[in-house]
Amino acid sequence: MTAPRLEIDLDKIHHNARTLVGLLANRGISVTGVTKATLGSPEIAGALLRAGVTTLGDSRIENIEAMHRARVRAPMTLIRSPMLSQTKRVVTHADVSFNTELDVISKLSSAAKEAKRTHGIVLMVELGDLREGIMPGDLENTVRETLRFPNIALTGIGTNLACQNGVSPDAKNMAELSALADSIDATFGPVLKVVSGGNSGNLQWALSGADTGRINDLRLGESILLGRETLHRQPIDGLHTDAITLIAEVIESKIKPSQPWGEIAQTAFGEKPSPTDRGDISQTILAIGRQDTDPDGLIPPPGIEILGASSDHLIVDSGRHSPSVGAEIMFQLNYSALVRAMSSPFVAKVIESRTDYSPASLLRP
Ligand SMILES: *Cc1c(COP(=O)(O)O)cnc(C)c1O
Repeated sequence: MTAPRLEIDLDKIHHNARTLVGLLANRGISVTGVTKATLGSPEIAGALLRAGVTTLGDSRIENIEAMHRARVRAPMTLIRSPMLSQTKRVVTHADVSFNTELDVISKLSSAAKEAKRTHGIVLMVELGDLREGIMPGDLENTVRETLRFPNIALTGIGTNLACQNGVSPDAKNMAELSALADSIDATFGPVLKVVSGGNSGNLQWALSGADTGRINDLRLGESILLGRETLHRQPIDGLHTDAITLIAEVIESKIKPSQPWGEIAQTAFGEKPSPTDRGDISQTILAIGRQDTDPDGLIPPPGIEILGASSDHLIVDSGRHSPSVGAEIMFQLNYSALVRAMSSPFVAKVIESRTDYSPASLLRP
């Protein structure tokens, strides 16, 4: 079989999504299925929709366009602030976008008017993680301005934590988001349908039994694909953590000293190597490298240790095993390794499932 390849088990992804959709439904929260790590794969999108996610969210308009081309039919939200240069594409393909800048909303309004469409806006609020967001004190004014634009519908507010600075969603910041929603509705009439509390980092808070207040949507990507919460990367009970695996092929297998010889300068990537001397080892080279994935995010099978990687080679100490040339080794991936592998043209994507989740199958009665 072709290598390197990602093996994607759609039944496991469907199970993960359905489990989280069910748990959150008990808390009055719907799920936006985030497809950005999958390059807008229509099969994965189909599995998420079949599992009950209400909306698909992606950070790239290109992925949303790809899903439309593949006839995925679902409400689509662009979850990164649109570029001014892409506003026309955004109103054409996304029903809603996340926004923080009135200049962008103004241009979305003109583009939507021209396209004879209405574009939905979720205003993102800064609650401490210091990535995107309007400062809470500026929200009311931004809402007032947003409501004035033609062909624009303010559909909600949201926030994003646990990213840039790893700030945990908790009772305090979530209550602040709820209070902001209440205050906007009190001032402008009931306008906010969606209060989007965050990403996979919000699961611990959402499932803890805490008061969820006005929060009625979470945007989940990593937890569905990898089965882990993202504050401490612990497995989530009842979810598969091996829905996606990476397989690479051995191109060299030799007994070699663990210490390099000669005068040591920099590596190909400007690092200063400091290998420990462990005598002779079984050194194996796999045909996969930094152009294909993030080697630091690969988890090898027990007994195998990653020693380093160049653009095209992954060098491992294969311990007691001496895999033969042509053998395959399977790795688990973290999110960084997953997104890089998904977007590398050198890595094949092999999607396996017993159930048909294709967009066409969703249309059947
Ligand atoms: C990527 C992203 C998400 C999904 O995050 P996960 O940790 O993969 O669940 C949600 N919201 C925004 C704004 C994002 O950029």
